[in-house]
Amino acid sequence: MNTADLTRIRLAIHGGAGDLAPGAGPQPEHRAALARIAESTQALLIQGATALDAVEHAVVLLEECPLFNAGIGGVLNRDGLPELDAAIQRGSDRACGAVAGVMRSKSPVRLARAVMERSPHVFFSGPGAEQLGRELGLPEVEPTYFVTHERLMQLEEARRKGVITLDHDTDDSRAQKTAPDAAFGTVGAVVRDAFGGLAAATSTGGLTNKHPGRIGDTPVVGAGTFADDRSVAISCTGTGESLIKACFGQEVHARMAYSGWDIAKATQHALDEVLHYGGRGGCIAIDHSGRITMPFNSYVMYRAWVDADGAVQVGIELADGT
Ligand code: ASP
Repeated sequence: MNTADLTRIRLAIHGGAGDLAPGAGPQPEHRAALARIAESTQALLIQGATALDAVEHAVVLLEECPLFNAGIGGVLNRDGLPELDAAIQRGSDRACGAVAGVMRSKSPVRLARAVMERSPHVFFSGPGAEQLGRELGLPEVEPTYFVTHERLMQLEEARRKGVITLDHDTDDSRAQKTAPDAAFGTVGAVVRDAFGGLAAATSTGGLTNKHPGRIGDTPVVGAGTFADDRSVAISCTGTGESLIKACFGQEVHARMAYSGWDIAKATQHALDEVLHYGGRGGCIAIDHSGRITMPFNSYVMYRAWVDADGAVQVGIELADGT
């Protein structure tokens, strides 16, 4: 392992992408939450945390924040239940863990990390995933723990309109036109630590009014979550079906590793593929040299980042920066 060098630290977090109707305002609550979580993650990294610990820390805080679609405040399926997905990956050896369709594990990303470190496997789903969490002594909750009034209202609205939506989608005209089936949200984090190591983690409630059992890109390592120290750490948000078809994380890695593309060109290309497969969304990504990019093709993507200057920055709309 390299010796610690605090100038290597970079991080980016996201609270999902979507087509928020114009006029939603500056959203100070969302901005403050993103800034607080980025600051706390930066502080941990300065104390010497690894990228893996830092992405888990950021995503646990995002799961606990009801403003974003993961953990508490995760969107609800057609039956009014949360079905949560999460994944985590370390870039040095591609060690990874993922869970899908859980509703009783207090922190899906912690469960994903337990899968990675405390089981011989990499991917668990539903009751079996929850059973593993129980056997490993991870905290459990009733499914109602995750349900908020706002999400119940959102589900009612989606049922009334007969659509399946991404979180943060309020512009019906665009949602109907570009993704008849969808609306986004999801949370994620990517980090380069003081030792130069990369990691990524993502957690989501998926799509509002989704069919029970539906799984998106978030827990699919190599699609919505990916980290490899030789190339890039990535966390996606958007139409899971299209992100899976695009093999988003692997596509970016391959373009960087085999074609010599830089991170901006590789992520933009993968996002174009997502559009080609009928989806929308975005990603946060950091490469091995510390370059950050956060492209999206929806109207907004909630994000915060710390670049070489060490300042925490927050963005929602395109004009907000990087
Ligand atoms: N990508 C997530 C999924 O398809 C949803 C989102 O990012 O809004 O489950």
